[in-house]
Amino acid sequence: MSERPPRTEALHRRHGVGAVDTSLAQLRRDLCDASHELHRRGWVANHDGNASLRLAAGRFLMTPTAMSKRLIGEHDLIVVDGGGKVVQGARKPFSEWALHKAIFAIRPDVQAVIHAHPPAATALAVAGIEVEPKILAEAIVSLGDRIPMLRYALPGAASQEAALREAAAAFDVVTLEHHGVLTCGDDVETALLRLELVEHLAEIALRALPLGKLRTLPEVDVAELLQRRTRAGLGPAARVGKARPAG
Ligand SMILES: [Zn+2]
Repeated sequence: MSERPPRTEALHRRHGVGAVDTSLAQLRRDLCDASHELHRRGWVANHDGNASLRLAAGRFLMTPTAMSKRLIGEHDLIVVDGGGKVVQGARKPFSEWALHKAIFAIRPDVQAVIHAHPPAATALAVAGIEVEPKILAEAIVSLGDRIPMLRYALPGAASQEAALREAAAAFDVVTLEHHGVLTCGDDVETALLRLELVEHLAEIALRALPLGKLRTLPEVDVAELLQRRTRAGLGPAARVGKARPAG
């Protein structure tokens, strides 16, 4: 199959050689499972949310527009080329594809991008507040010391793509003011876990805020945790020298 993803070696390293099926058929199942999970967790409503996976040869597998994430089956997924033209499947691409593409372009290590409107993180984005990761040690190791919020822009605005490119170079999760969350990872499961973590952090923040204020960890500990993050192979410092060409 020519459409094997470019991250096969990394997946094998993580799970053990031969332990992961990275065929296109498996990627279709993974993307469908993620789509259903977005709905099951209440992170999307109506036709909201979308997910995409980088394939080889500059192509991408994605969820279609105008369909509930609950109902998407493997035959509903579409394959597009780098210009967004559908090369496989009968449905149409989602309009937020430009945001996914901006992340894939700036991050050759990323294989999966997910966008959703999880209520707690989106509530903070509606209020104009960034989700704060420095309240829990594990969150700093997993996501870094910041989850940037991109300023509000009408869907499709070029200004947001430029801001996203800058943020995605350094961070795996951003929130979008008055909109939702974008996450990425070197497989769909990692992107989904990051979405789960940002929503969990936002829920904790919404419970802590009425009790006073969010107290962040001491800066010296934040610095140590960021070093642990790099040693764990996460974040921009760990990616230096490891970048590979886009598939
Ligand atoms: Zn959206």
